[in-house]
Amino acid sequence: MIGSKKQICCSHILNKERDILLVVRTEEYFQFLCGEAHDDEPELIDLNEILAYDPSIEHVLELKENHLIERESIDGLWILRYDIHAED
Ligand SMILES: [Zn+2]
Repeated sequence: MIGSKKQICCSHILNKERDILLVVRTEEYFQFLCGEAHDDEPELIDLNEILAYDPSIEHVLELKENHLIERESIDGLWILRYDIHAED
């Protein structure tokens, strides 16, 4: 069950500096990202912490494996960008 495992986020999300605007689901976990470039390593976070920070994330947990969704702002609609396995 994905909800019991650690998920990935960027330091901006971990530190609540930016909104979650990009979500990737891999076969192993979700990645919750701000959509900006990063120099630092990804962080681990509990799904419960993500949901506490942004309860609307509950609606994206049905995202299929190997898909990426993105929104322009926290009030924007999520847009499916691509299947990450089809990237090359
Ligand atoms: Zn970030």
